[in-house]
Amino acid sequence: MTLDLDANATYAAGDSLREKLFAEWRKLGNPSSLHRGGQRAKAAVESAREKLRALVGAGARDQIVFTSGATEANNLVVAALSVGASHIVSSTIEHPCVLLPLKRAANRGASVTLVDPNSNGEIDSASVSPQITATTKLVSIMAANNETGVINDIECISRAVRTANSGAVIHSDAAQLVGKLALDFSKMGLDSMTISGHKFGALTGVGALVIREGVDLAPLILGGPQEHKLRGGTENVLGIISIGIAADEVREGLARRERSMREARDAFERGIKELVPRIDINGSSVNRLPNTSSVFIDGIRADDLLVALDLEGVLISSGAACSSGKPEPSHVLSAMGQDEDRVKSTVRVSFRGDQDGEVGTRAARVISSIVSRMRRLK
Ligand code: PLP
Repeated sequence: MTLDLDANATYAAGDSLREKLFAEWRKLGNPSSLHRGGQRAKAAVESAREKLRALVGAGARDQIVFTSGATEANNLVVAALSVGASHIVSSTIEHPCVLLPLKRAANRGASVTLVDPNSNGEIDSASVSPQITATTKLVSIMAANNETGVINDIECISRAVRTANSGAVIHSDAAQLVGKLALDFSKMGLDSMTISGHKFGALTGVGALVIREGVDLAPLILGGPQEHKLRGGTENVLGIISIGIAADEVREGLARRERSMREARDAFERGIKELVPRIDINGSSVNRLPNTSSVFIDGIRADDLLVALDLEGVLISSGAACSSGKPEPSHVLSAMGQDEDRVKSTVRVSFRGDQDGEVGTRAARVISSIVSRMRRLK
């Protein structure tokens, strides 16, 4: 049986979501149609919007714009705020869906300042605020990192940014935080925040951008007037319904899920430390997501371990981004000051809300036995 320890990549939709979605299936007209089928679909989209609003603590007048995922939501924000010679502050550990739009913005004349994390992987407000100038239009700092799980203190960063320049738009990519810990958009001091549905049990290909009331952003995708005129095109109704169902499920079970993830992750880390010599866990002394463990295993190539584990039915991730067929070493660990050997010997194990301490212990045992075998063969 497969042991999925890669929840940060995608948290596959569960059986109950599939059943509920199937029941909704018949309602799916085009939400823009005036007839019954369209109006039912429209009502389903609006109901999902309210469920997501409740999950993330957005105010009644904040906008929630459904997108194709976190990638699109982040692209929307950068595109809207990088017109002309704007100044943008972000960090070197952001997901490529922030970094690449920023790179393009810089090529088109924007001025982009990227802040490095400390050696634990945190972006701290004291390193962000000195970068803010009177011309800064956007500050974009992720809420939790997908590779290390390290959480940034967004409230504190927002406060520091507002003090330095009250007109800058403050954005955060919260794709990894939503569904793992309780959060309250209205208290984070943010103007906008990105959500990814498939990171907390919705279908893939749906996400959202939360926009604080009064913040004006231009659409990335132009077309019909859907989504408050901020995202043209007929809505992904099924995906949107799935995000609403997942939001309700997560909200109702958040405390239990968080406890389970933490038990799984802690049991895993206890086990791996006991069984495998010469390892180190990134960011273990700072605030992290309850489910994520980024483990350096001396002398073991992450990609080799990944393949060996896959053959045993255990799914984990390396810190490498592989979009071109040639894995690139993690930009996150490199930004934390780690050398190439360490970066290439680091894996990420991330647990789901329905896994527990027993799964964590089993994961440590399987990984340690493969690591011992690989080390013996060297
Ligand atoms: N931002 C972060 C922090 C992520 O971890 C991911 C996906 O791994 C994304 C953005 C992109 O999300 P999506 O697949 O919804 O476009």
